[in-house]
Amino acid sequence: MNKSKAQAESHFDILIVGGGMVGATLACLIAENTALKIAVVEAAPLLTETQTVRPFSPSYDSRSTALARGTIQIFEQLGLWDQISQRAEPIHKIHVSELGQFGFTRIDREQEGVSELGCVVENAWLGQVLCRRLLKYPSIQLFSPASLQSLQWNGDQAHWNAELGIAAAQPKSVDGQSIQSIKSKKSISATLLVAADGVNSTCCRLLNIEHQVESYQQAAIVANITPLRGHEQIAYERFTPDGPMALLPLTGNRMALVLTVKETELDQILQLSDEAFLKLVDDRIGGRLKGFSQVGQRAHYPLRLVRVCEQVRPQCVVVGNAAHSLHPIAGQGFNLSARDVAMLAYKIQQASDKNESIASVSLLNDYVESRQLDQHATIQFSDKLMKVFGSTLPGLPLARNLAMLGMDLWPQGKQLLTRQAMGLSAGLPFRE
Ligand SMILES: Cc1cc2nc3c(=O)[nH]c(=O)nc-3n(C[C@H](O)[C@H](O)[C@H](O)COP(=O)(O)OP(=O)(O)OC[C@H]3O[C@@H](n4cnc5c(N)ncnc54)[C@H](O)[C@@H]3O)c2cc1C
Repeated sequence: MNKSKAQAESHFDILIVGGGMVGATLACLIAENTALKIAVVEAAPLLTETQTVRPFSPSYDSRSTALARGTIQIFEQLGLWDQISQRAEPIHKIHVSELGQFGFTRIDREQEGVSELGCVVENAWLGQVLCRRLLKYPSIQLFSPASLQSLQWNGDQAHWNAELGIAAAQPKSVDGQSIQSIKSKKSISATLLVAADGVNSTCCRLLNIEHQVESYQQAAIVANITPLRGHEQIAYERFTPDGPMALLPLTGNRMALVLTVKETELDQILQLSDEAFLKLVDDRIGGRLKGFSQVGQRAHYPLRLVRVCEQVRPQCVVVGNAAHSLHPIAGQGFNLSARDVAMLAYKIQQASDKNESIASVSLLNDYVESRQLDQHATIQFSDKLMKVFGSTLPGLPLARNLAMLGMDLWPQGKQLLTRQAMGLSAGLPFRE
């Protein structure tokens, strides 16, 4: 192959670093609506040796995501919802309460006039559906397992040069971390760089893009558990002095537990026997589900509010957890990012249709401006919810209870809250 042909083959319009839920959703949205050439680089082994997607089996050890209505609409637009919904459990009601207090609020699909308030799906299944779709687009080249090693700006050609370390695909180890060794290196170039590589973004580190970090001094313990009573498609949000807890309905009468604990108590709670752990969850939910019979593997995540200081730079944009990572209690992180990338893909499509630059400063600034309001509102919603319910200041528990009771009796206020939680407060680009 001659040199210029090889260069053309390794040049992409867009390089997306990180094929997690956000990077993969963005790649699908762009590939669905344009002919732009896209490289997706993902460090985890998404594929088997024979380049097929790793098989999925429902388990008790995986993380789940509550998808808001707005996100479901994005997947419907991509024609992926039929597949995702095969293993998604609808949320019919949300029950918000505080341990030891009288107030609570209920959000009901019937009152909201929708078939469901959202759906809960295991990340492993969502990842599989997205990965299978990525492989179907001829305009997408998926490098997995491969990781970004270095980045260089080529001013003459106005593009990024990236070096990738291509790893040997290995199955995941017991603790969920993949074991990899670099087999070879590959150089590629791209006009637009998208950093979708998560909260410890390599792209941001290589480009000296900083983050503001605020620790909640809490950790989330995640596990799948089975209640003795049927979950009846109810999602529970429970606030306790030790931190909030969410129980989300999953398929097969399992529930996805997100238990927030103080950092100082994490080790002790992780070491509890299954029986003692389920008793703790039962106590925190006030016996509402009549106890629990089974718990899967417990995983844990540090809880921080992380915000990137610059979302865009010339020919570069930061999305997903690399841009903002929120407290998971309100289930907003992925939903917010899905709306971000829907807007970014729309702006890129508009430019591509008009044969304009897909990486211009004006396009990227336009994108950030159009997302500012929703990002601000969603980050504040998650953060304040956490801080108001986390506070033990005298008088606050009573005020919270009255507020919850009031919310239950004040339909307009509750509707505002529900629209925010359902991801419908901000318009989606394709619905304009
Ligand atoms: C306990 C918990 C519960 C949550 N529940 C919800 C919920 O119910 N609803 C909701 O909306 N959100 C929820 N979230 C938030 C949601 O999980 C995140 O917003 C979402 O996972 C972010 O996806 P991402 O693709 O940006 O990042 P990640 O999922 O971190 O993906 C980044 C990807 O980049 C890859 N990568 C990293 N470095 C490199 C490199 N150098 N080269 C190549 N690839 C690289 C990684 O392998 C990874 O696959 C929850 C979060 C937590 C912690």
